[in-house]
Amino acid sequence: MRVLLVEDEPDLGKAIDRTLKQEKYIVDWAQDGNEAWEYLESHWTQYNLAIFDWLLPGLSGLELLRRLRAKNSALPVLMLTAKDRMEDKVAGLDAGADDYLVKPFGMAELLARLRALQRRSPQIQPQKLQVGNLVLDCGNRTVCHLDRSGKNQSIFLTNKEFQLLEYFMKHPNQIVTTDQIRNQLWEASADTFSNVVAAQVRLLRRKLESFGGANLIETVHGVGYRMKN
Ligand code: CA
Repeated sequence: MRVLLVEDEPDLGKAIDRTLKQEKYIVDWAQDGNEAWEYLESHWTQYNLAIFDWLLPGLSGLELLRRLRAKNSALPVLMLTAKDRMEDKVAGLDAGADDYLVKPFGMAELLARLRALQRRSPQIQPQKLQVGNLVLDCGNRTVCHLDRSGKNQSIFLTNKEFQLLEYFMKHPNQIVTTDQIRNQLWEASADTFSNVVAAQVRLLRRKLESFGGANLIETVHGVGYRMKN
């Protein structure tokens, strides 16, 4: 799940960025409206959710929203605003905002609003992915393995392992390239080393090995990987 966060207040931006990453979201954080638009244009189809502050240097949150909707993007957008004046809410909703959060707010409320947006968004369905005996719950952010008797055994994964498995499970039986994985799962600003994807796949396979799933993800030499259903 990749989120574009646009917030110019450094302390608040940092707090949201950290909270979302703890919850296994991939976060690109832009601190002004123009930078945010560049992120959107270069990662157009990759974002699942966006959080726009209302007042920003460069393009405002409202202007970003209008531009998005003018391009027929259905990306779910949560607007952050210090204003709770009725006319602003109306302007935001008219421009296509999906929800609002008035500052100051608690991180628990922000996370709850994002989960609600995900549930409502047809883009982000299905909530549960299953490949073989593996079940990944996008809502609860958990993974479990169904054994022969139908019992669930949960599998503990780090954030990156979870994101990687989610990506594979969304593309079963398809070859995904190393570049696709890197672009999808690492923040645009991340300083990644060249075989970061291979290293992460190795870690994930080790976890999957514990219940006999070591061969679920096969290497397609010189290209990338494929998850077998
Ligand atoms: Ca602001």
